[in-house]
Amino acid sequence: MYIDRNDTICAIATGLGKSAIGKIRVSGPEAIEICNGIFIGKKRISEMETFTAAFGRIYDEGRQYDEVIALVMKAPHTYTTEDTVELDLHGGPFVMKRVMELLVSKGARVAEPGEFTKRAFLGGRIDMTEAEAVMDVINSETDMALNASLNQLSGNLRDEISDIREKLIYNTAYIESAIDDPEHYELDGYAETLQDTVNEILERLDKLLAGFDEGRLIREGINTAIVGRPNVGKSSILNTLLGEERAIVTDIEGTTRDTLEEYISLDGIVLKLIDTAGIRETEDKVEQIGVDKARTSISSADLVLLVLDGSDDITEDDKNLVKSITDKKVIVLVNKSDKEESFNADRIRDLLAKEFKDELPAIIEFSAKTGGGKDLLKAKISELFYEGHLDYNSEVRITNVRHKGLVVDAEESLRKVLQSIEDGVGEDFYTIDLMAAYESLGTVIGESLEDDLADKIFKEFCMGK
Ligand code: GDP
Repeated sequence: MYIDRNDTICAIATGLGKSAIGKIRVSGPEAIEICNGIFIGKKRISEMETFTAAFGRIYDEGRQYDEVIALVMKAPHTYTTEDTVELDLHGGPFVMKRVMELLVSKGARVAEPGEFTKRAFLGGRIDMTEAEAVMDVINSETDMALNASLNQLSGNLRDEISDIREKLIYNTAYIESAIDDPEHYELDGYAETLQDTVNEILERLDKLLAGFDEGRLIREGINTAIVGRPNVGKSSILNTLLGEERAIVTDIEGTTRDTLEEYISLDGIVLKLIDTAGIRETEDKVEQIGVDKARTSISSADLVLLVLDGSDDITEDDKNLVKSITDKKVIVLVNKSDKEESFNADRIRDLLAKEFKDELPAIIEFSAKTGGGKDLLKAKISELFYEGHLDYNSEVRITNVRHKGLVVDAEESLRKVLQSIEDGVGEDFYTIDLMAAYESLGTVIGESLEDDLADKIFKEFCMGK
């Protein structure tokens, strides 16, 4: 356990390369005093109002370090809830390192990754879902991911979870009161009321869980396999789509992103292309990409884009590919629509109808050459994965595996309550499971979260955050 809220921490909050400005953040009970001792400006830091800035120099024992702007923010209305001073220096790694050393020599401690946010959490300013959202905002790489994170940062998930927990604790308290004081609290018919409440809560939790898959797709992109026999135009389609907008994806520590993966962002819908290396190899046409190779990428795909060559006949390979994707979300791209067609959508529909029992995949006439069909493709993907609407500002959703596991636990406990009601066992049995659900949900927002788990979560943060 590294945290001691009585000490004062400092960290470089900006990137570590050379830049115009570099920010050092100091937070804790002695932040103002420590900075005051090394700052010479028109004003003294100790005399500055909260949320004001002053120009000055960092000095110590006759030695000048840098010209800075100091921003003073006083507890409790700061990011960490503690006194905080931010020093804007010239953004050179060397000068920033020197100032950091100076701060440490004056009694500050170099912060652990995520420690500023952890203090915000321990100070009660934010709950765990909001703390985790801070990290998600930083890691967001698309508008949709950013919106989902900002949504969580605003406390929507916390509010939903807190509201559910209040209902759980109310019912537990009621049962316990009734057991202690049967004269004043009625338990006759209570089981039915509780059953309704638990069912209603289960529905709300189901809704949160249903949002999880969408949440994952928002954060990580839709795993997409582009499959088709050689020469149908897979690489060309990939290039056309990449020309649209290459999603900028940086390496984030702790995530397993393969450098071979290619990301495409279509108006905010992120496709993560699977086995792009394989797809690229087809460009030199040396390798025959058969059904077998496609199969591996199909198995992990959320979406399969099956490419057929509309200017060529349907072959056995095409038919075999169709057979291998019947349990997937599929969009068929009939490519080379700029050329004279050899078969039309009707023939493909017949072919698909044989294999797809429930719903036929969408068929889009596409041209990698002209880009024709791209808008329709976007619309279809949006329909398949987001029910056609991509605006997440108001929805409460779970995007985090940790939260998902806890909500699943809570649901299990609540189902036990329903079982107990059905079995007609004593009311005191209900409270055990109601409280278990209450605690699981409490762990989502960070109440009753064990220290080492909290440490683990915060350690994934950037330095200085
Ligand atoms: P892959 O083997 O499936 O990756 O196919 P390629 O992308 O390498 O394309 C095979 C050939 O078809 C190349 O000569 C492409 O220029 C051509 N091609 C691909 N898409 C189209 C298209 O939409 N229209 C036309 N006219 N030619 C295309």
